[in-house]
Amino acid sequence: MDEYSDKHFLKGFGFLAENNIARALDEFSNVLMQKNDNLEIYASMGSLFRRNGDYAKAVHIHESALSSPKLPGSLKKYIQFELVKDYRAWGQNKQAKYYLDDLSKHDKSPVLVKILAEINFEQENYEEAEKLFHKYEKISHKDYSDWRAYCIYKQALKETQDKQKVKLLEKSLKISPGLRIVNLEYIRTLFAGAQKEKGISAVNSFIENDLALTEDDLNEMREYYYDYKDVKDFDQLIMRKVSAKTENPFYILFMAEYFIKKDDLTRAKEIIKDFINEHGSFKSLLKKYSQIHLDSVFVDAFINEPEYKCSSCGTLYNDYHTICANCKSLEKIKPV
Ligand SMILES: [Zn+2]
Repeated sequence: MDEYSDKHFLKGFGFLAENNIARALDEFSNVLMQKNDNLEIYASMGSLFRRNGDYAKAVHIHESALSSPKLPGSLKKYIQFELVKDYRAWGQNKQAKYYLDDLSKHDKSPVLVKILAEINFEQENYEEAEKLFHKYEKISHKDYSDWRAYCIYKQALKETQDKQKVKLLEKSLKISPGLRIVNLEYIRTLFAGAQKEKGISAVNSFIENDLALTEDDLNEMREYYYDYKDVKDFDQLIMRKVSAKTENPFYILFMAEYFIKKDDLTRAKEIIKDFINEHGSFKSLLKKYSQIHLDSVFVDAFINEPEYKCSSCGTLYNDYHTICANCKSLEKIKPV
């Protein structure tokens, strides 16, 4: 390496160490864009461009490295995989699939099957995505039942016939009984299709299995009781949950609201205090408690606090979401 290249490389690595990718790229570009005889480093620079959000440049570098006549076989696979990642990050699934297909001919790594499943999911080919997640489960020995169930739920949402929709939702619940979103859709579909007896038993298992993750979930369940059974039975069901020392704060919120409506503010406060002593505080409970007190200092302290957090990546949310927008995990957002 000549002195000119040396200088830029050193500076580039210095910036990399400081995680300043943009400036590192400036330095590397000075050397590598002119003479790319070191394909390994040239390809790594493409990956840095991707990390920096410059997908067009990442693709350009990786594709030109791939077409180099000097490319060794060992590097070819690496660059093809980088191109899959470039195009995925760029949101161009068709091209990502092209390189994935090529790569899969010689490489049987489970991760390739998983990426293909994810691409199919994003392209709304839910049936194919479910099959691929199943294949991934088998070869990687990882549990992907949640995602398989979610794919079938997505298929069900496209179904126009109630009977067929119920069938798909039941198939989904069989694979993963604990997904809140699938249970909700199942209950809604049963009530819409006048299968209320079955609907109420699904409501009961929704409560029994602690699937409520918002105050509205419980209000919705109460509506079904109102529609079909005695609403007092529902309130008692929740009361029993509270007496049985539930760890789910939404039952407490529901009961607090219940007592507030009955003008029994003391009882509402007590119920919240008892829960906080036992299980720790939740933002939604602190908000409710401060609203009962009508203490403006107290209210202001909590009113803008996010009530949910993704247990996989730590992203905070004001409202509940099924999929984490940051890490794309499924039903991992919990109340905090
Ligand atoms: Zn997340």
